[in-house]
Amino acid sequence: MKFKVAALAGAVAVAMATGAQANDLNKIDSVPSYQKYSPWYTQGQANIKAKPFAALSKSRNVILFVGDGMGVSTITAARILEGQLKGMQGEENDLSFDLFPYTGMAKTYNVDAQTPDSAGTMTAMMSGVKTDVGVIGVGEGIVRGDCSTVAGNELVTALELAEIGGKATGIVSTARITHATPAATYAKSADRDWEDNSDMPEEALAQGCTDIAAQLVDFEANLKARFPQADRVDGIDVVMGGGRRHFLPNDAAYNSADAVSSVEGDRTDGRDLTAEWKQAYPQGVYVYDQFGFDAIDPASTSKVFGLFNESHMQYEADRVNDIAGEPSLSEMTSKAIDVLANNKKGYFLMVESGRIDHGHHAGSAYNALTDAIELSNAVKAAVESVDLSNTTIIVTADHSHVFTIAGYPKRGNPILGKVVSVGSDEPELAADGMPYTTVGYMNGYGMRDLGNETDADEIYGYDINAGRMDLSSIDTEASGYHQEALIPLGSETHAGEDVAIYGAGPGAHLVSGTNEQSNIFHIMNQVGKLEANADKELSKPAPWWRRWW
Ligand SMILES: [Zn+2]
Repeated sequence: MKFKVAALAGAVAVAMATGAQANDLNKIDSVPSYQKYSPWYTQGQANIKAKPFAALSKSRNVILFVGDGMGVSTITAARILEGQLKGMQGEENDLSFDLFPYTGMAKTYNVDAQTPDSAGTMTAMMSGVKTDVGVIGVGEGIVRGDCSTVAGNELVTALELAEIGGKATGIVSTARITHATPAATYAKSADRDWEDNSDMPEEALAQGCTDIAAQLVDFEANLKARFPQADRVDGIDVVMGGGRRHFLPNDAAYNSADAVSSVEGDRTDGRDLTAEWKQAYPQGVYVYDQFGFDAIDPASTSKVFGLFNESHMQYEADRVNDIAGEPSLSEMTSKAIDVLANNKKGYFLMVESGRIDHGHHAGSAYNALTDAIELSNAVKAAVESVDLSNTTIIVTADHSHVFTIAGYPKRGNPILGKVVSVGSDEPELAADGMPYTTVGYMNGYGMRDLGNETDADEIYGYDINAGRMDLSSIDTEASGYHQEALIPLGSETHAGEDVAIYGAGPGAHLVSGTNEQSNIFHIMNQVGKLEANADKELSKPAPWWRRWW
């Protein structure tokens, strides 16, 4: 007996000594070397650290708001529209983030593209390195669509570093939660379109690549496989958005109560990922409509998975028409913060207004601007529920759109109206004798008057109608009006100019100046100590009992 106790004590002592040694000799990096020593990463980090008081900027919580496609002209027009809806002239109005103390600019280009897409831009913001257009969470060594090039190019993201470091994590979007922007927080994919297994080529599946929806549900297991020492990883705590079709089997038996299609799910591998999530997180709550959302008590809930639509969630202006009802972006933001705030080590939250982009692609300023206003509401809700002495909030866009505010309309002229000049009450006429609107598009589907329609995507049922039209008898302020476009295209395009970055909370001044977009990661990393805390976690000696047994 005595001998046994001595042996036990000796083994413990040896185990502890080995642990201490391992700690010194085997510092484990959370960021892989090809990412950490990429010039994007080293220069971005150096640029941010060189800004005044960077080292003193510390925050417990980091919230990143992304207005998808919310260029500067969109912000200006949304600000005016919101003001006019409140009975003001409009121009003097402020969106919630207009009141943030610091602003800067971001250069949005992708490694291989002058005008970027959401996959490359969000990967830059989440990993600190720029990459190619169309790829998710992988570096520029990738070949888009080639599964065999994923291995060795996987990037670690701000959300993953927060997980490893023990923070709570959340993602909220009005787009499908497998769409490019939210996907870049958690997935690694050679193609943004691989949202479920039926979207993938046979070859990619045979080579072992998995779809984005499966990567979301398997996030915890996959991250632990990459970082076996990461003891605090417990999965993404709040996931809310659209895109149910990518999580359900292609079988009507799995349809939800508010299914639009006769068969809601697209998966052809038989996996019901919502059931798998519930099994993995028995303490969690899976919801798919407003009723389920309202029933969530943040105080007693640690895991939420909300899939409120088969595809994207509704445009804010069209939300009342949802079959089973769905929460607004501001409601989801407040609930997400309340759930994540239960974690004493803080949280990382990404909130995307995904459909500003879709409104613009459809040539509908009304839908794009009303969704931008709802993003402003969501930012306001966040500011009201956090303490800005320990929470950093960044609001930005991934890219702009070819959306302009033009002509010489007088002060207070309706932003969606026809141009009426100072001193006049009648619309100005162009050289072709016809009136014209203040806002419009360089390219896209073109003019269409859909009256009181509130779903911009209805346009895709009509023919392209670009060029000048006679607007004399048309109400261009109606929700269903689609603006004129010069160049005919099946979808209006992104634009390549810089986007704005707004900051509030500790280290918010670090957004100032003209930044590579990948520096947004370095700002969040600096204030949230994401990489440092993750490295510390990974390099901690394993508990003696684990090494012993
Ligand atoms: Zn887009």
